[in-house]
Amino acid sequence: MRYISTRGEAPILEFDEVLLAGLATDGGLYIPESWPQFSADEIRAMRGLSYVELATRIMQPFLGGRIADDDFAALVRDAYSGFDHAATVPLKQLDDNMWLMELFHGPTLAFKDVALQLLGRLFDHVLTRRGERITIVGATSGDTGSAAIEACRDRDAIDIFILHPHGRVSDVQRRQMTTVPSANVHNIAVEGSFDDCQDMVKAMFGNADFRQEMRLGAVNSINWARIMAQIVYYFRAALALGAPDRPVAFAVPTGNFGNVYAGYAARQMGLPIDQFVIGSNRNDILTRFIENGFMEAREVEPSLSPSMDIQVSSNFERLLFDACDREGAAVVNSMSEFRKTGRMTIPQGGMAEIQSLFDGHRLDDNETLAAIDAEYRASGELLDPHSIIGVAAGRAKGRNPATPTVSLATAHPAKFPEAVKRATGVHPELPVRLADLFERQERYDILPNDLGVVMAHISARVAVKGAA
Ligand SMILES: *Cc1c(COP(=O)(O)O)cnc(C)c1O
Repeated sequence: MRYISTRGEAPILEFDEVLLAGLATDGGLYIPESWPQFSADEIRAMRGLSYVELATRIMQPFLGGRIADDDFAALVRDAYSGFDHAATVPLKQLDDNMWLMELFHGPTLAFKDVALQLLGRLFDHVLTRRGERITIVGATSGDTGSAAIEACRDRDAIDIFILHPHGRVSDVQRRQMTTVPSANVHNIAVEGSFDDCQDMVKAMFGNADFRQEMRLGAVNSINWARIMAQIVYYFRAALALGAPDRPVAFAVPTGNFGNVYAGYAARQMGLPIDQFVIGSNRNDILTRFIENGFMEAREVEPSLSPSMDIQVSSNFERLLFDACDREGAAVVNSMSEFRKTGRMTIPQGGMAEIQSLFDGHRLDDNETLAAIDAEYRASGELLDPHSIIGVAAGRAKGRNPATPTVSLATAHPAKFPEAVKRATGVHPELPVRLADLFERQERYDILPNDLGVVMAHISARVAVKGAA
């Protein structure tokens, strides 16, 4: 298995190289040169496998022999041992036709754990074998920093520094990051905004000397291995509902397009999926794209579902590549048109194919709150403001009442307690294993909004570690 860039100008790489590279050198995203195929008989034979067995079988062809089968199986087993549900990603029935797959039973209560718990272990395994280390640096507005920290904690070959805006993330969000006691985890509260944090991270990556000296790396959502890990639960849900002998549909609350793209990948591998419904909040670029047939960027506006407050969905480029008949040059043209004009059109045949498979649906904040309340009254399920958008979108745009729809629940309701309480009057409780979050010891450094100071802090910490 080899990997090519969506822009066609970067070196072709093997799995371990793609893992560490992240973005391709031509600015594109890596994708498999061809999709591994599973026949109907092979899919049928997956019934009854545990999540870990299924995950190992689905992902194995993507490794191209670059990680030994036994090592990989052990990494997968370890990655999902921290999930607090026996089914790892349990499936619940909401009504006759609507199912909910809960992807939030990992350490930080959000679906990003499903991919990141494996990604951290893969990084550590590959780096250790090469005798290398990396320094992960990232910025968070609160929601996603903890998933990266939990992925990297206690990994010998990794140091992780996460910048958050001091005083501007919720107490639960901050504590999920700052109470991790591992020596390789470094939280920095910057006296500035999230944009300041993000600008500093960009500046550090843009500084070639610093980047090389610290061996900076990222675990961002364009990493191929994250997509790979997310393909597994599409198989899991479809198998539970009768695949390969009955097609299913999926409804996915969408931001960077990583999650729903993984579903598309599962379909390319032979899983019978009839339809994907993309759920958007007021930042509805993808829904407008499906409705109008062209992509048009607007300003990002804050909503109750912050992890979907995105206007340019980075993983969309992977689907664009297929819509352009896998021509890197056509992708480059479309992307540069988009950068210059804020607008992108897709070749007609490609657009028709996308519209034949994908639908989009948007909910504004009021509709989101009303839907959380209605769902709680109808089924007793408390859903967070991201997960409910999937369910409501699936109900609104499902095409075939005979096809079961699986909506992906991406966050635990206790991760967004204010919105859930506002909608239903009920305060969602943290799961037992996080119940003492507010008693745990916090550890973080408060630094001024000054790039030089933050860089000096990072180098000093990495140097101490290296000397130890
Ligand atoms: C990241 C995230 C999403 C969006 O997923 P994408 O893969 O970026 O489309 C949705 N919900 C939650 C809770 C998230 O953390």
